[in-house]
Amino acid sequence: MSNPKLGIIGGGQLGSLLTEAAKYLNVETVILTDDINAPAKNFTENFICGNYEDENLINEFISKVDLVTFEFENIPYKILKNINTYKPVLPNPEINKLIQNRYSEKDFLNQIDIRTTKYKLIKNKDEIKLNENLIPGILKTCTLGYDGKGQFKINSIKELDENIDFNNEYILEKLINLKKEISIIISRFGHQKYELYEPIENVHEDQILKHSKIPADISETLKEKSIDWAKKIVEDLDYIGTLCVEYFIDKNDNLYVNEIAPRVHNSGHLTINTHNISQFENHVRAVCGLEKIETKKISNGKMINLIGSDISEYRGKTFADNEFFYDYLKTEIRDKRKMGHLTIIENKS
Ligand code: ADP
Ligand code: MG
Repeated sequence: MSNPKLGIIGGGQLGSLLTEAAKYLNVETVILTDDINAPAKNFTENFICGNYEDENLINEFISKVDLVTFEFENIPYKILKNINTYKPVLPNPEINKLIQNRYSEKDFLNQIDIRTTKYKLIKNKDEIKLNENLIPGILKTCTLGYDGKGQFKINSIKELDENIDFNNEYILEKLINLKKEISIIISRFGHQKYELYEPIENVHEDQILKHSKIPADISETLKEKSIDWAKKIVEDLDYIGTLCVEYFIDKNDNLYVNEIAPRVHNSGHLTINTHNISQFENHVRAVCGLEKIETKKISNGKMINLIGSDISEYRGKTFADNEFFYDYLKTEIRDKRKMGHLTIIENKS
């Protein structure tokens, strides 16, 4: 039986790296994007570009593939649902609908007894005033935020940012006294069938991921708990594919889930070089129904995100045997934009 043809919605770095993993597995991919300059066009000939609302475009995409996955969770639910009536979309669009909204996402986690920060839905200014117990806090748009976009720190009710647009819905989240952030990347193939990576320790700067490393410097208890929670989440969602759970650890060593990304994740880029099977390969294997192979660590390592003009000094540089440079080949260098990354694996002595 030949491998299925995989449609990927989104043509950023995650779509590009998924395509690379698929190529390695002999799985042909078709990328659908609304960005004519999407970096994935450097990695595939099957590149369809246009407006996601364009029916002809979607039909062309559907006709060319056997199943569909995506690199980002903010694709309108109705588009994914429509595609799913013709070709299977994995992970299931219902999961996306739940996770696209920070409020329903946090409700879901609490319903399955997983700790999150304290939060409240906020529809207007007055509702902030009614929730003084959540201040200092962070106001986050319920939908469409990423890399800290759509977030406002609130130190006091008296100093609300002028730029807050109350046409959007928000959640107000209590600020955590952060000690560390970690993530778990897990790829689920079916009931109680998954491969997962050990906790990855992450450092953010300006709310954008800057560094990731394994092993994470955390206790055995936190390690086990974060893994248990990730398993519980994917089982409960009946998830297929790779998913990332982002966690906070506070100064008292309490663990909280910050958010779930129903897709491959930036903190898992190091798995390309530290493991026999990367998060991208495991995703393609899981959604395409290919063999599940035991995922093993080859080496410890760390990843550095190259953001904005950071990339310039790396292009044309020579690297040591244990350094792996990835250039997303974005046409324009922009501030706060992820342009590439460097993974450094620990040399075995
Ligand atoms: P995004 O969807 O933009 O990734 P997050 O909710 O993950 O948004 O926030 C980005 C980063 O901001 C987090 O990784 C963390 O460093 C910081 N942050 C967010 N919420 C809180 C909080 N409640 N307490 C402390 N730090 C937070
Ligand atoms: Mg985040």
